Amino acid sequence: MSIAEETSTPAIRTAPAVVHVDDSPADRYRRRKVLERGGFRVADVETGAAALPVIARELPDIVLLDVRLPDASGFDLTRAIKAQATGASRDIGVILISAYFTESEYRVRGLESGADAYLIEPISDAELVASVRAVARRVEQLKAARRNEQLLDARTGELRLADQAKNEFLATVVHELRQPINAAVAAVGVMKARADRSLGERARDVIERQLQQISRIAEDLLDATRIVRGQVALRIAPHDLGAILRRSVDAVSATAAERGVRLSAAVPADPVFLPSDGSRIEQVLVNLLSNGVRYTPRGGEVNIALEATAENAVIRIRDTGEGIAPERLPRIFDLFVRGPSSDGLGIGLAIARVLIEAHSGRIEAQSGGPGRGSEFTVVLPIQSATT
Ligand code: ADP
Repeated sequence: MSIAEETSTPAIRTAPAVVHVDDSPADRYRRRKVLERGGFRVADVETGAAALPVIARELPDIVLLDVRLPDASGFDLTRAIKAQATGASRDIGVILISAYFTESEYRVRGLESGADAYLIEPISDAELVASVRAVARRVEQLKAARRNEQLLDARTGELRLADQAKNEFLATVVHELRQPINAAVAAVGVMKARADRSLGERARDVIERQLQQISRIAEDLLDATRIVRGQVALRIAPHDLGAILRRSVDAVSATAAERGVRLSAAVPADPVFLPSDGSRIEQVLVNLLSNGVRYTPRGGEVNIALEATAENAVIRIRDTGEGIAPERLPRIFDLFVRGPSSDGLGIGLAIARVLIEAHSGRIEAQSGGPGRGSEFTVVLPIQSATT
């Protein structure tokens, strides 16, 4: 059978690399030619001593190793190669080859030292190529399994973080609810203890306010869970983004003034019409602006700016506040993810992302790092706004 016929076996994705260790120039030359024709990249080494550094450098898929080398035993070298590969979390196939050590006991020793195959010379070109390919396929499978394992580990890590964030979220919700509940319970206690009419009325007011607070928290949570589960129906109509932006600024201006944070807006004179759910876009902008105000210390600034191109409306919300550490940026839009100084529930940005993506837009966060402010960019396509 010719090598050409052999190529009908399933191809391996990239040309596998072979380090070929043999002290015989004639064997090195012949096998290199055969393997190169078979689609392998081949690096030759003459001695056992030179082999390990070359293997460490080249990181081949396969080492084709003469059992009898002048300075080393192929068996010992096999063990060393496998130990080196395992230590570096690599997979390298080792094929021993010999014209002298052909008896069964040597083949057994070779395989037990970790070799993946043991070939006996004389061997046909086609069989050499097929054998190297077979081992290369096994190595490729091992590598794929290792990659999957790493992906799984990463995914498990992410899930653990998400679980932790959810637990923290639950604790925060309970904490948020406990305060008004305790206040209401205390007011009931006052009502029971005193027959005094005016005191009773005041206690009733307290209870009413606290119940309203609890009901607001419940409504917010319900809305948030609906949105992040994708159960939000947008009411799309043409809206002027500039007007939405101005309303959002108005909504947070009192809080900004209270906290000593300067709020400014840059809106084009001409309206920027966008088919959108105006109240949901406003919800997102109010959220981003409130975050800017909450995470910026007294004396700082929050700015919102709208620009429109033919394709997109781009809204930037910049602040001079506490900024976001680079390692936290990739997860900042995940549900329940909160920073160390947060007194919120860690759901605002997750909601913002879902709502913006529902408008076929995207939202991004940037920051120069802790203490260097943050910038949130919302890009909304003007033409094809949403379903
Ligand atoms: P919350 O603010 O309730 O914690 P969000 O989902 O709105 O939840 O924000 C998630 C986290 O992102 C916050 O806890 C905070 O650490 C960080 N963050 C959001 N906006 C800003 C900002 N403008 N500056 C600094 N950090 C921010």
